[in-house]
Amino acid sequence: MSRRELIKNGIEEISEYVPGKSIDEIALSYGLNPDAIIKLGSNENPLGPSPEAVDALERHRAHSQLSVYPSADAGELVKALSEYTEFPESNLVASGPGMDGLMDNLMRLVISKGDEVIIPTPTFSYYEIAARANGASPVFVKRGNDFNVGAESILEAESSRTKMIFICSPNNPSGNLIDERELRSIAESAKGLVFVDEAYAEFAYRNMSDLVTEYDNLVVGRTFSKAFGLAGMRIGYGIMPQWLKSEYMRVSTPFNLSRPAITSGIAALSDTRHLKQSVELARNGRKYLKDNIPFKVYDSQSNFVLVDVAPQKAQEICERLLEEGIIVRDCTSFRDAGDSLIRVTVGTHIQNKRVVEAFKNLYLG
Ligand code: PMP
Repeated sequence: MSRRELIKNGIEEISEYVPGKSIDEIALSYGLNPDAIIKLGSNENPLGPSPEAVDALERHRAHSQLSVYPSADAGELVKALSEYTEFPESNLVASGPGMDGLMDNLMRLVISKGDEVIIPTPTFSYYEIAARANGASPVFVKRGNDFNVGAESILEAESSRTKMIFICSPNNPSGNLIDERELRSIAESAKGLVFVDEAYAEFAYRNMSDLVTEYDNLVVGRTFSKAFGLAGMRIGYGIMPQWLKSEYMRVSTPFNLSRPAITSGIAALSDTRHLKQSVELARNGRKYLKDNIPFKVYDSQSNFVLVDVAPQKAQEICERLLEEGIIVRDCTSFRDAGDSLIRVTVGTHIQNKRVVEAFKNLYLG
């Protein structure tokens, strides 16, 4: 038997997750000064982490207890999340690593080999990876004009084996929200769990968490990686019906959040100043980018915008931007995204101005 046969069937279908490029990688490949490079390819917070989170790590000496396991369910963070979200603790779970960990635990809970999950494309690529790794077959439904998701097309794609439906809102990479009526129609009729990924909820004018109290098959996923600026801490959380939390806790990896993660997460939730500044920066910046980048830019409710550089190719434009030390995200690797879309994270105003100038120089209008 070859060693490869140890690996379960279906894994060969998975393409490894493609992360945004790092500053060090680009400095090395293009011979650039790392300080001159701007990283707008991973939707991180240009203001950095919440200062209160950083202070808390130092003040509370989270490190002095590193030899002792944290609480298994990150209960202190769940309590703080309850205040922040106004949901009872019985509706909340804290997850690590990040929201990715939440999705993985949910899939371990509901998926048996041969089950299906529905993924409206183009969207965040980890849904497909986690689905396949857990033995499910993804069923892809292409989003409509302007990347909208229609309930009809989702419900048509459902089968008796559908266990989860992934709705990213605001969607990565397009930035649009799902229409509430469409989401209600999906939740009303779906047999599977409806997972609403709200990684970018804080930047939008509206979120869908209220629906958790109305539909017993709807789960909302959130993260500290974006508005709270804690991508390096890998903290996520879920808002879910009570019955589901009890089941979830049976399979959740224990101690899946580290002590520093719990400490910094609690502090970040109380840092309303940083949150407000981060949200304002994203809202003003996305408008500035939309108004000033000469290509087609989609409306966004998030901390990034999607630029269509057709008839030029995203890959070529991204390459030219990299040469200038600007890292953005070429969406060619996103399923059903075509080859002319580029996702640009909103940066500081100075960074946004540099991005606009660079796009202007590449516009062949
Ligand atoms: N969902 C979406 C839509 C994302 O864009 C990301 C991160 N890029 C995640 C989930 C993962 O979040 P986390 O960092 O909490 O794992």
